[in-house]
Amino acid sequence: MDLELLRTTLDQAGEPSYRFDQAWAWQARGAADWEAMSDLPAPLRATLSEAIPFSTLKVENEAVSKDGTIKVLFSTHDGRPVEAVLMSYRDGRRSLCLSSQSGCPLSCTFCATGTMKFGRNLTAAEIVDQALHFRRLGDVNHCVFMGMGEPMMNLDNVLAACELLPDLGITSRRTAISTVGWAPGIDALAAQSRPIRLALSLHAPNDALRSEIMAVNDRYPIAEVLAACDRHYEARRRMTFIEYVMLAGVNDRYEQAVELAALLDPKRYKINLIPYNPTGSPYDGSSRAAIDAFQRTLEANGIGATVRLTRGQDIAAACGQLAANALAG
Ligand code: SF4
Repeated sequence: MDLELLRTTLDQAGEPSYRFDQAWAWQARGAADWEAMSDLPAPLRATLSEAIPFSTLKVENEAVSKDGTIKVLFSTHDGRPVEAVLMSYRDGRRSLCLSSQSGCPLSCTFCATGTMKFGRNLTAAEIVDQALHFRRLGDVNHCVFMGMGEPMMNLDNVLAACELLPDLGITSRRTAISTVGWAPGIDALAAQSRPIRLALSLHAPNDALRSEIMAVNDRYPIAEVLAACDRHYEARRRMTFIEYVMLAGVNDRYEQAVELAALLDPKRYKINLIPYNPTGSPYDGSSRAAIDAFQRTLEANGIGATVRLTRGQDIAAACGQLAANALAG
């Protein structure tokens, strides 16, 4: 919902300022529509429903995986595709994966979003409306900015959305922003006060390989990015999660695990190994045995690593699979 428009509309109608808080509280609790806001006078509800679309996004398609993961394809008012995902876990976590841009201007070679045409940055309202959609389906309590786009290239709007997420039940401690290493954004995140988690998509243990698979590395090489992550750690005292997608024969060899472990201070970094989801790219995912061996080598070399549970693979909702096929064509 466009909250600026809500505020102006209420002001112009001569309503007291607490009406804004009432309307937002309903939205944040997952109200289905204006009609549900029973403590707003009926004529005001009618005025608001005339003046303000309940969401800035339109649902174009919804897919439900056999593991319960829900992926929604939205479109913006100017027809831009946006995807977001809800993952539900047995321990009660209900985690959102949100998009910060429609498409992505960076072209990481393993990523489906990178093959789409870049549209534009999403507004804060368009980001929050992805979360509100899922809030209307039930509780939500975790969020990662790991959907379409590079969040650090749209950080002001991402942070404006993060201001509102706690009202939906997602605290800043349970919010993570994932970057491919946009160093100025990492410094900007360190400079703000919310305890938001930083995740770095590293995917290679040296610059030669990283530049081959992620062009952004030519702009911000590994040493520069890790220096920014270190500054973030010093400012916020929160470990950075290193995301490492496992590509068969590319970045999953024994010596690459040793090199990766040597690069990272185990007090500041924790590694998340991500099984790769085929997206019609030139890569294959590493086998389960290769991933396990890589994990064991990291641990033998002193750094903790977990293997991410793959969710929603059958509906192309897993990491690196968001590509808005239905709209992008
Ligand atoms: S991995 Fe992230 S930054 Fe790279 S192309 Fe995909 S969405 Fe963009």
